[in-house]
Order: sequence, then C-alpha cells, then structure tokens
Amino acid sequence: MTPSPLPFRIGYGEDAHRLAPGRPLVLGGVSIPQAERGAVAHSDGDAVLHALADALLSGLSLGDIGQYYPDTDPAHAGLDSREILMHALRLVQERNYVPANAALVVTLDRPKLGPLRRAIARNLATLLDLKDTEVGVSFKTSEGLAPDHVQVRATVLLVRVAG
Ligand SMILES: [Zn+2]
Repeated sequence: MTPSPLPFRIGYGEDAHRLAPGRPLVLGGVSIPQAERGAVAHSDGDAVLHALADALLSGLSLGDIGQYYPDTDPAHAGLDSREILMHALRLVQERNYVPANAALVVTLDRPKLGPLRRAIARNLATLLDLKDTEVGVSFKTSEGLAPDHVQVRATVLLVRVAG
C-alpha cells in the first residue's frame, strides 16, 4: 500500500560563492550597494536565491539546481537567479505543495547587511508568494574564517494543498 503524501515537507539548501573585486553583489534579488566585491559565478551569483531554490527542490526530493542549470552550459551565463528560483517553485507547485515559510542564514563578513534585512525579506516573500513575516533572514559573519566568501543556508516548510 502506498502511504498518502505527507501534509508537510521540510526543504534545506546551501550555497556559497567566492567574492572578488569588480563584480556586483546581489543577494535575494537585492543589489548590495556598499559591496566592494561580488560573487564569482557562472550566473549572477545570488547565493540566497540558489540556496532557497535548492531548499525547495530538496523538500520534494527533486534534486538540486545544478541538474537543471549546469554551470557548464553557456546558455546560463549571467542568468538572473530569480529565474532559477521560479523554476524550482513551479516544480514544487506542480506537485501540489506551496511554501509556508522560509528561514535563511547569510554569512558574510562585509558589508553588514542588517539595514537590508527588510528589503531582502520582502523581495523573497514576493517571489515565493508569502507575507514578509513568513520569511526570516539572519545575518552572521564568519569571524574572519571565510572573509572571501558569501555563504547561505536556507530552509523552507512545504505544505500540501488540494489538487
Ligand atoms: Zn550559487
């Protein structure tokens, strides 16, 4: 007998990018104006959206974004990562699940992102069709352990809807 689908599924994703001068830094779809360095990446290097997309996919055992957007494919160069997130969200919705809330931890030594918390949370909420209060974003520094990287960890709770 096949068990009925779980009403809730947890998803978890991580992403990290090396930082280098002369590149823009975009996190959660928000340009970080004070950043002196940006992500080295094949796409736009938005580690927040990458971790979140992987969290959505992992929640339903759908693999990871590397399978859908391999970094060896020149067609994905400079890709807007909102497209990656929306693709992952579509795959989840097609299986009759929607995100109920998301929680993220962004580890970056500089610049301090606290002033951008609301802008990032609001942008993520809009993309995921959630309320601002359903997206929690925490900021940490690496305490100098990884000053040349941005790292993001993301969890989402997926809820089954009728369908
Ligand atoms: Zn990435």
